[in-house]
Amino acid sequence: MSETTLSAPDGRRDLLGLDRTELAAELAAIGAPPFRARQLWHWIYHRGVVDFAAMTSLAKGFRAELGERYAIGRPTVARDLQSTDGTRKWLLGFADGQEVEAVHIPEEDRGTLCVSSQVGCTLTCRFCHTGTQRLVRNLTAPEIVGQVMLTRDALGEWPSPPDGRLISNIVMMGMGEPLYNFDNVAKALAIIMDGEGISISKRRITLSTAGVAPMIERCGRELGVNLAISLHAVTDELRDRLVPLNRKYPIAELMAACRAYPGLSNARRITFEYVMLKDVNDSPADARALVRLLAGVPAKVNLIPFNPWPGAPFECASDAAIARFSQIVFDAGYASPVRTPRGQDIMAACGQLKSASLKAKRSERPAA
Ligand code: SAH
Repeated sequence: MSETTLSAPDGRRDLLGLDRTELAAELAAIGAPPFRARQLWHWIYHRGVVDFAAMTSLAKGFRAELGERYAIGRPTVARDLQSTDGTRKWLLGFADGQEVEAVHIPEEDRGTLCVSSQVGCTLTCRFCHTGTQRLVRNLTAPEIVGQVMLTRDALGEWPSPPDGRLISNIVMMGMGEPLYNFDNVAKALAIIMDGEGISISKRRITLSTAGVAPMIERCGRELGVNLAISLHAVTDELRDRLVPLNRKYPIAELMAACRAYPGLSNARRITFEYVMLKDVNDSPADARALVRLLAGVPAKVNLIPFNPWPGAPFECASDAAIARFSQIVFDAGYASPVRTPRGQDIMAACGQLKSASLKAKRSERPAA
């Protein structure tokens, strides 16, 4: 049994998240010809069907056999919160009880799903709430794909519409560091991009990293997705503190990896994320240093107002400081949109929902 195969609670094998080769091998093992795997792929990933009985292009007997041996699973929904601004956040559970968050952000011209890659995180970025949780484990490819499948179920988006989708874009920007779980992320994204299934193009997928420099080239070459770098500081001194991974891969090494990103051009720019922290990294001098750092890199800058959480050691920069910063970056020729905070009423800081759920579980436990 492939280690990425999930088991349904009743012992049937879960087909969700198998790639094409694995699915074909699975069916070959029960004597079905290769075109059956293709038909099944269509039902699972284009139509979103979870019940074999509804797969009407397959012979009845074959449907019954599939149903006896296999399941097509989904993560369970532990919480489902909808913000007044339309942002929707799910806390999703997996077979071993671990939970991650997925967030849908609807906008006028697109709908973005923010997907998690790990349960918890090892990076301990100081401003990030998930950074206060320890890493529990990597997500498997089925668990990453499962986030997309479940949220599309919830949004009623089957079969895959060609245009005007509620989920048109994917950002690997949820909990965890995707470049520390590269193989599972790569496998999941291949399934998500497959043109006969979910079919979200690599141009509409962005992978965000805290700066695992040695993996960046592979990300571009093998996945070809858009790259976002969580920069947040322009000196090693400050970045060492905010993003401790910087001690391993300092800014110069990270920027060199960015300059060499396969496929980089003015039409395909790297996004540099910069969280605006009051009196920490929000001065005009910081903005000018940022511009110098980006010289020669096809880049855009995403200014993110700090999203506070209880006990966080920072405050958000003022609107004036953010506007001033944005203007300097813009005047230097870079797009520098300020990301409007979304879903403030539903525990928006990444990881907060999961922490709240953990706390609740602890307090539910009977006293010894
Ligand atoms: N590990 C990856 C992806 C997860 S974080 C990475 O670091 O890029 C996704 C983005 O949200 C990162 O840019 C991160 O720095 C930012 N972020 C995390 N906590 C935040 C907070 N409280 N306020 C604003 N942005 C935050």
